[in-house]
Amino acid sequence: MKGTLKPLLMALALAGLAPTAALAESRPATAAEVKEQSQTHVVMLGTGTPTLHHKRAGQAILVVVDKQMYLFDAGPGFVRNFEALSGRDFMPPYTQFVNESVYGAIDKVFITHLDSDHVLGLPELLLRPWVLGRDQPMKVIGPKGTAQLVEHSLKAFKEDIDHRLYGTQPANANGYKGEVTEISETQIVHQDDKVTVKAFRVPHGSWDADMSFGYRVETPTRTIVISGDTRKDEANYEHFRGADILIHEVMHEGAISRMPQDWQKYMYHAHTSTRQLAEIAKEVKPGLLVMNHPLFFGATDEDMVADLAKHYDGNFVLAQDLDIYE
Ligand SMILES: [Zn+2]
Repeated sequence: MKGTLKPLLMALALAGLAPTAALAESRPATAAEVKEQSQTHVVMLGTGTPTLHHKRAGQAILVVVDKQMYLFDAGPGFVRNFEALSGRDFMPPYTQFVNESVYGAIDKVFITHLDSDHVLGLPELLLRPWVLGRDQPMKVIGPKGTAQLVEHSLKAFKEDIDHRLYGTQPANANGYKGEVTEISETQIVHQDDKVTVKAFRVPHGSWDADMSFGYRVETPTRTIVISGDTRKDEANYEHFRGADILIHEVMHEGAISRMPQDWQKYMYHAHTSTRQLAEIAKEVKPGLLVMNHPLFFGATDEDMVADLAKHYDGNFVLAQDLDIYE
């Protein structure tokens, strides 16, 4: 109930309506009231792939629900992109050196799989918000191997951590740590009073079936689905259906067709072409389709958009770093 009644009463007052007796009393907000007061924003903090691109940081998708943050993947170099959201009304304050800030709110990340373009930023995610204020361990949810990645990352940075903990810096004792949950099944991996996050298995190249995931995020106002890296597979559709926003990986079909045969075979075993993505979207009908993790291989942004548009006339965009969808 905390913090939900007051804004509603204010809204009623602004609308010239007197609060009813029931509202004036303290009672849990109804589902309709929660929905009315709730906000969901999706921020593409990083949209890149292993290919070097100075305008695309590594994979990282941020969902913000009433200033609570849900981060998906931790590719290389995305952490600095949080700065671009400073001052936005849907973000927590950027006060430094306190946990009650954006740095403390960077408190959980859901990893799709352990390919390096999705996790090279994990050490940065553990260490940088800690230096700036987070005083609780970072929750890291991901496939088997995630615990080892966190443990060894922290070992690799032992000198830095020790120097901050035991030197003159007034560093807190816990904010650099990782609290890891390893997953292997299609399952709900997080639930709080507003948000449910479900992991679902996706087929991605030669990763074992229990090693690669997409995520479905249900908030009071939106359903967001993140495909992770995956080839086209109809088994994914049940998790995609009903999405207001479907964020799906993509590769340019024409560019793939110019690759050597063995590479084409690999690419279609791991990824989804523009034509295939159009087929998926026609089937699952998202409110907005976001092409993410674009594998260009010589094609341009315009080529990618044109190629999807050849096959799909629904609402879609090609993701760019710092795009925000509501
Ligand atoms: Zn990838």
